Amino acid sequence: MALPSFKLIRARTVPDAVASLTQYASEGARATRVLAGGTDLLPSMRQKLFEPEYVLDLRLINELKGIRETEQGIEIGALTTLRQIESSDILKRDYRVLVEAAKTVASPVIRNMSTVGGNICLDTRCLWYNQSLTWRKSCGFCIKKDGDLCHVAPGGQTCWAAFCGDTPPALLCLDAQIEIASASGARQIPLSTFYTGEGDNYRKLQSNELVTRVILPRSSARLHGVYRKLRVRGSIDYPLAGVAVVVKRANGHIEDLRIALTAVNPAPVLVSGLSNFTSNNLEEFAEAAAELAARTAKPLTTSALTPEYRREMIRVFTKRAVLALYS
Ligand SMILES: Cc1cc2nc3c(=O)[nH]c(=O)nc-3n(C[C@H](O)[C@H](O)[C@H](O)COP(=O)(O)OP(=O)(O)OC[C@H]3O[C@@H](n4cnc5c(N)ncnc54)[C@H](O)[C@@H]3O)c2cc1C
Ligand code: SF4
Repeated sequence: MALPSFKLIRARTVPDAVASLTQYASEGARATRVLAGGTDLLPSMRQKLFEPEYVLDLRLINELKGIRETEQGIEIGALTTLRQIESSDILKRDYRVLVEAAKTVASPVIRNMSTVGGNICLDTRCLWYNQSLTWRKSCGFCIKKDGDLCHVAPGGQTCWAAFCGDTPPALLCLDAQIEIASASGARQIPLSTFYTGEGDNYRKLQSNELVTRVILPRSSARLHGVYRKLRVRGSIDYPLAGVAVVVKRANGHIEDLRIALTAVNPAPVLVSGLSNFTSNNLEEFAEAAAELAARTAKPLTTSALTPEYRREMIRVFTKRAVLALYS
C-alpha cells in the first residue's frame, strides 16, 4: 500500500512547529498531521485513514528529547523513545510501572522509533477501522471515517473504537501531567483530562497544538506498581486489555491504591471508587478491587478477542496484581 502524497515540513523548534500548524490551519489546509516516530501514523496513512496535505516532522526538535530531573519531578520530552524510557535508570528506580508498560509496546525495533508523545496521542483502534481502503469500502465505511453507521453498535451514532496505548494507564496511576504547546504558549494539564472518551474524537488537542512533555510528580516516585497486558501475539501486539496497578505504602500500610485500564474503553481510564472500600481480608479486598475494575471496563467487539473474555482478564489481572503488591 503506497503512501498518499503530502508535503513534508521539518521543524527545528517548538515555536516553529506551532507556527507551521497555526499557518496551515488558518489556510484551511486539509488536515496537517504531526510525525514523531511514525510507527502508527505511517501505517495509518498507507491504509488511507489519514490523507493530510502536510506532515509536520518533529524529529529535529532536540528540546523534546530526553529525560530530566526538575523541581516538579521528572520531565520526559515528547520525542523520548520508549526504548529510552525502558532503559532509563531513574525511571527504573522511581517509576517502574511506566518502564514495565513501555517494555510491552510492540517489538524492540518499533520501540526504538516509538515516542512517548506518540503513544499518548495514539488514535483509537477498531477491527472495522484499522483496515485498508478496499476492505473498509467493501463494508460501506463507518462513522469514524467516511460512513454514517457503526458496525460494532448498529443503530447508534457513537464510535466505540478503543484506546490501545500501553503507557497512558501507567502514567494515569502516576498522576502524570502533560505540557501542551500552542501559539499562545504552553500549559500543563493532568493527563486524566486529555481524553474525551469518544472513539472518533478521542483527545482534547486543537489542530495547532502539540504535546511537548510528560511530567511525573515527585509525590509518585517509588510507588510500587505493575502493568499486565493481554494480547494475541506475545512478541508484538497492541493490548486487547491492559491494567496498571500502583500502591502507595506508608509505615507498613497501604495508603492508596490506583488502578487504570487500557484497550477496553475509548479512553484510558482510572478506576474510581477505590478509596471507599477496605477489608481486613486481602483475598476479599483484591476481589472487590477486581470487580470494580471489571465493571469500569466496557469492551465491545472492536478487537480480536471477545468482550467477555477481555473484561474477565481485566478482573484476573487486577486481582493478581493487588495480591502481589499487598503481600
Ligand atoms: C506492529 C505494531 C505493533 C504495535 N503495538 C503497540 C502496542 O503493543 N502498544 C502500543 O501502545 N502501541 C503499539 N503500536 C503503535 C505505536 O508503535 C506506538 O503507540 C508508538 O508509541 C507511537 O509513537 P510514534 O512516535 O511512533 O507515534 P506516531 O506514529 O508518529 O504518531 C501517532 C499519533 O500521534 C500524533 N502525535 C505524535 N506525537 C505527537 C505530539 N508530540 N503531539 C501531538 N500529536 C502527536 C501523530 O500525529 C499520530 O496521530 C504498534 C504499532 C505497530 C506498527
Ligand atoms: S466503533 Fe463503530 S464507528 Fe467506531 S471505528 Fe468501530 S465500527 Fe467504526
